[in-house]
Amino acid sequence: MTVTWEEAGWERLAAGVGRCRLPGWDCTVGLVVGEGSALMIDAGSSLAEGARLRTEARALAGRPVTRLALTHPHFDHVFGAAEFADAEVFGAAGMERVLADERDALRGDAVENGLHARVADEAVATLVHPRHLVSDERTLLLGGDRQALLVNVGPGHTSHDLAVVVQGVPGSPPVVFCGDLVEESGEPQAGPDAVPSHWPAALDRLLDLGGEDAVYVPGHGAVVDAGFVRAQRDALATRFGVS
Ligand SMILES: [Zn+2]
Repeated sequence: MTVTWEEAGWERLAAGVGRCRLPGWDCTVGLVVGEGSALMIDAGSSLAEGARLRTEARALAGRPVTRLALTHPHFDHVFGAAEFADAEVFGAAGMERVLADERDALRGDAVENGLHARVADEAVATLVHPRHLVSDERTLLLGGDRQALLVNVGPGHTSHDLAVVVQGVPGSPPVVFCGDLVEESGEPQAGPDAVPSHWPAALDRLLDLGGEDAVYVPGHGAVVDAGFVRAQRDALATRFGVS
């Protein structure tokens, strides 16, 4: 059975493309539906949230999620990934090492940000590592005319930032899922794993990919336009002293 985006509490961005703003950290997850496949973008902040998203995505797509793209290795984007056990998991090349080597740091960050310790332990114990690694770009064919372009646009917010670009939806502008390279709900969060010197260039790349008319989906907050991304790029350049 399929439901509408509205019925599921998701925001429709184009035909077969939508996103959901999750409670807690206002983290965005996306879904791109093709005729033969469904691509999920990020997986929520816990196994329980991942399970909920898997169920909702299946109802929205009318088929199980077969691919999962993780935008970067932060807990609120990856802790639900184990619930997509049957999906091919994609990430920026090198992300798999972060998830393998820095579990304690991921757990610590999650608990510091308010995730229950038991929930964080459970997620870290089952953490999924992407096996499909994107060094530059990769096109996913999702069935029918539907494609999604995965682009390793970082470093910036982290050393492993992956964007997802959906083009060619009749009557709709391109949709660019930006991960946390762009945030609308506040100033972009720059932790110890950020690479400030390259961040403005990553936003230039997003703008090249989407163009003036694209819908830009931030990792946190409301959907924005190219003008917002350009202004945030300039603000980051000023903040970090980069031209
Ligand atoms: Zn992040």
